[in-house]
Amino acid sequence: MMSQGITPAVSGTKRTTGSKGERSATRDSKRSRSNEKDAPLTSQVVNSTAEALKIGKNIIVKIGKEKFKLNEQEDRPSRLETSGKERKVEKQKGKGVILYKEFTPANKWIRQPDHLTSSEWRLALKMTANVCPLRAIPGRSRDGNHCRRCVSEIETLGHVLGACPFSETLRNSRHQRIRSMIAEALRKKGLTVREEVHDISQEGSCRRIDMLAIPLGSTSAYIIDPTVRFEAQEQQPTEVHSEKCRIYEPTVPFYLEKYHLTPIEVVGLMVGARGTIPRLFVSFCKKFQLNNDFIRDVSLAAIRRSLAILKYHLYFVS
Ligand SMILES: [Zn+2]
Repeated sequence: MMSQGITPAVSGTKRTTGSKGERSATRDSKRSRSNEKDAPLTSQVVNSTAEALKIGKNIIVKIGKEKFKLNEQEDRPSRLETSGKERKVEKQKGKGVILYKEFTPANKWIRQPDHLTSSEWRLALKMTANVCPLRAIPGRSRDGNHCRRCVSEIETLGHVLGACPFSETLRNSRHQRIRSMIAEALRKKGLTVREEVHDISQEGSCRRIDMLAIPLGSTSAYIIDPTVRFEAQEQQPTEVHSEKCRIYEPTVPFYLEKYHLTPIEVVGLMVGARGTIPRLFVSFCKKFQLNNDFIRDVSLAAIRRSLAILKYHLYFVS
């Protein structure tokens, strides 16, 4: 009974005369009760908000990706345009630069461009770095990457300097210039040199060799075939020599008989289209006491003639 009498009085006191702390405690207890009632609802709201945020985040990410894809599609050529051959072209960058180290005096033109005009020097640097304005370079052309002259192949620097039929005459002229330089140098050393000699191979087919060089007072001779090739890889000079041996060794019996010679050696001499001089060429020059100035002249001749081919390809207007 005591407790029943006291309880209303206490509760009335709380309602009318309670301290601030007590009122605050009451509010907290109400909130607590309210929270207990609303807990499932709040949890649902929180969960649904998190879900919405997650979905929103996914949507934003998805939209971002789509936008990025769209930007990519705008900036890059279509899949058809970049398939197959174009990817191979990108891998060719830097090919053959290793041959520049085989005879470094031939690279002096980079620091001392005394024998080149300023425009030739700039274009020669572009050839060295393989960044000439050709269609194989990504972003250089909106009409695809096939050759602007013959259309049959990808327009790489190798194609322009070594294979494009549009510049065939100039390529022959480059070859003849290098051949004449070597022949003249050998004559000055006392060798008898015959250029463009016709012969018949063992199979009966007609051939023509670039040079037949016979040292003074000797019965031995050399079939020499200089070749200007666009630099591709380190073993290329050896491969060129082997290729020339396969072609010209069947003609050796013909010359042995015709000129009453004893041994004949076939020499395939590669000169780089960008002026590189392989070790095999240097060894050949040392054998015949041709000095470094001569080798540098050959290198510069190759560069100048290749520049003429490149300019013709890029700028000729019919
Ligand atoms: Zn072409």
